[in-house]
Amino acid sequence: MSQKLKIEFLGAAGTVTGSKTLITYNQKKYLFDCGLFQGPKELRQRNWGSFQDLNSIHAVILSHAHIDHSGFLPKLVKDGFSGPIYSTPATAQLCQLLLMDAAYLQEEDAKYANTSGYSHHQPALPLFDKVDVKKALSQFREVDFHHWHELDTGLSFRFSRAGHILGSAVTQFSFKINDQSKILTMTGDLGNGRSCIIEDPEKILETDYLIMESTYGDRRQSRNSPLDELEPIINQVIRRKGTLVIPAFAVGRTQELLYLVNQLETEGRIPKVPVYLDSPMANSATDIYLNFPNELKKNLHGVQLKSRLSTANFKEVHSADDSMLLCMSTQPKIVISASGMLTGGRVMHHLKAKLPDENSAVLFVGFQASGTKGLLLKNGLKDIRIHHQKVAVEAEIFVIDSLSAHADCEDLVHFVSTMTKKPKKIILNHGEANASASLQYLLNYDLQISTDIAREGTEFILD
Ligand SMILES: [Zn+2]
Repeated sequence: MSQKLKIEFLGAAGTVTGSKTLITYNQKKYLFDCGLFQGPKELRQRNWGSFQDLNSIHAVILSHAHIDHSGFLPKLVKDGFSGPIYSTPATAQLCQLLLMDAAYLQEEDAKYANTSGYSHHQPALPLFDKVDVKKALSQFREVDFHHWHELDTGLSFRFSRAGHILGSAVTQFSFKINDQSKILTMTGDLGNGRSCIIEDPEKILETDYLIMESTYGDRRQSRNSPLDELEPIINQVIRRKGTLVIPAFAVGRTQELLYLVNQLETEGRIPKVPVYLDSPMANSATDIYLNFPNELKKNLHGVQLKSRLSTANFKEVHSADDSMLLCMSTQPKIVISASGMLTGGRVMHHLKAKLPDENSAVLFVGFQASGTKGLLLKNGLKDIRIHHQKVAVEAEIFVIDSLSAHADCEDLVHFVSTMTKKPKKIILNHGEANASASLQYLLNYDLQISTDIAREGTEFILD
């Protein structure tokens, strides 16, 4: 029987959430990433759908800790998966934090559905709870960067640095097809080498097949210094005594922002304004960054990092009561809060309070997916519904894309073009339709590499 490796996309195909790629080799199944669908209701509902055969898989390999790549793990375990979950050590630590928080949000949603009576299910149940998360965490197996780990006879993988967030990895699978060794590289979320904190992505020199993310496949990000872009925005808003609300992913963007605000203060380019971090999870994530100095930029080695990821007038907000009090405060300030795409979380309360205030502003620093309130606001909508109320948008909306954690189209093409042995086949996933199609065009025509776009349910056979 001829050997082959089969790939099937169960999420992050035509969209940027719900990352799950099923790999079948030698009659055994492996899942690469196990993410939650996020954003509009139609997508979120898919978390409740059944995924064929997933409890028969042998192992999960995790690219990084973001919930759209890891958040379905507790449900997988709840449904019977008892195998190993492989990740880098930093990803394992971040997952403890992120998955517990995800369980808390699931439990809160179910509670809210039961008290408000909006659920069709009686009683409404969480997708998973903290017990499921604990079980999932006990199945984690840490694998260091650059070490080959054998999954089965003839099938191994190793992680290389992806430069996206702490712990993030590009994964290479080594396998045999008819006695010939082959390499399949899966980028997961790929960084762009412009982070102030995280080491750059490592070059991949050789691969036979490549599955690549395409979030920014149709866009080139600004190469301006994020310091130069951030400075006038902060100064304008503080001068007019407003609040600058910055929605940000708790892991990644938040730490970059704190670093930059600290830098602007140190250089005397902005006043020492109160900076509130209203995301208990982001506070803990920052502590985990401090545990892995080797993954950080060389110029940060030996530096008092804790103080560099903080500012002169920095306050962590912990309790929900303090968060509500902060929403009512009219002092000029910066508030950093999650979620980054306005799909929920404390930032929604800050927006409800500050969007009607023309002196205040919202600054977007990360990707906003289709169907999210983040994209609507970014695109200039004049009123928006938050917690079933219509909220007028008088605040100024700013966008900086030089702070993105993702590679843009130029970076992605560069990632492939600098390989000494280029892939004979590329499959693009983790992108909205336009983004993947634009990148497909560049790779097909500029690099002359056969490039397909991942579609849900479609199988790709590597043989
Ligand atoms: Zn990510």
